[in-house]
Amino acid sequence: MNWLTNFVRPKIRALYTKKEVPDNLWHKCPNCEAMIFHRDMEDNLRVCQHCGFHMRLDAESRLKMLFDEDEFQVIELPKVPVDPLKFRDQKRYSDRLKEAQTKTGKNDAIRVAHGKMGGMQTVIAAFDFGFMGGSMGIAVGEGLLAAARLAVLQEAPLIVVPSSGGARMQEGILSLMQMPRSTIAVQMVKEAGLPYIVVLTDPTTGGVTASFAMLGDLHIAEKGAQIGFAGARVIEDTIRETLPEGFQRSEYLMEHGMVDMVIHRKDLRATLIRVLDLLGRPNPSAEIVTLPTAEPETVTPPSEADLIDPDADETVTPTSAQTQSGEPLEPAGDRPDR
Ligand SMILES: [Zn+2]
Repeated sequence: MNWLTNFVRPKIRALYTKKEVPDNLWHKCPNCEAMIFHRDMEDNLRVCQHCGFHMRLDAESRLKMLFDEDEFQVIELPKVPVDPLKFRDQKRYSDRLKEAQTKTGKNDAIRVAHGKMGGMQTVIAAFDFGFMGGSMGIAVGEGLLAAARLAVLQEAPLIVVPSSGGARMQEGILSLMQMPRSTIAVQMVKEAGLPYIVVLTDPTTGGVTASFAMLGDLHIAEKGAQIGFAGARVIEDTIRETLPEGFQRSEYLMEHGMVDMVIHRKDLRATLIRVLDLLGRPNPSAEIVTLPTAEPETVTPPSEADLIDPDADETVTPTSAQTQSGEPLEPAGDRPDR
């Protein structure tokens, strides 16, 4: 043929096919805007290797990351009434649900699985923020109850990993009812004497924070996660004050006693296993040794002469008027030199 078909056309085609090469090979870090290769992203558990920013993880990856390799089973959750209020805003709620189900391939925003963690039987309920913002409706409440029942049945600890914007407004008061329901679920686990651990991830807000997510025996937060009840802007508008930097972030919450640990995602599994191991052992790990009945060999205390530094000009002898730290007991006001 001619040069048009032999030379130009393949070149043009190459231009087009190049565009079809998936764009998602590279991800942009939302924090430092560095480009991250998709394989590095998966290897680093979706943590930016440049700035350490923790990106959100879907429930499936979360379960895979926490459980021992292939040692878990996702359970089927009870069927719940779909759109009981026949709610509609710009769209029908039932349509929104269908959309989210097609997008994620999941029924609702929670996944419950049981399996082994460090060889220990564990139940984990993980949230999917990708499913309508991980919002808590009847299905999620039901999922939490199922997880709690399973933990009690298996006498296993329960770990919940919320990632949620709060209650699902399309279910109105029915979604608010999931707050006491999930609280009862937690209570069931506690009454059975089993550990209940919450892994707070970005974001944990609204009705979720106001219920099961803040009732853990232990609260472990991922680095930099947003955790709070009302949004920062709402609070700022209400109290008319500028909020401190890092407000509602994991580190800030730990400083103020709301969470127990702030952990990098790469250390999360090992930390949980260590905690479960400690909590799962009611007895001391070492053999109890009875103290010897015979008098131990008397050790002669060092004599006063040994204690005196020969180079020192004068020796300081603590008097009864001094406290252990060496401070005189007289009120500070009597000392003009201070
Ligand atoms: Zn980054």
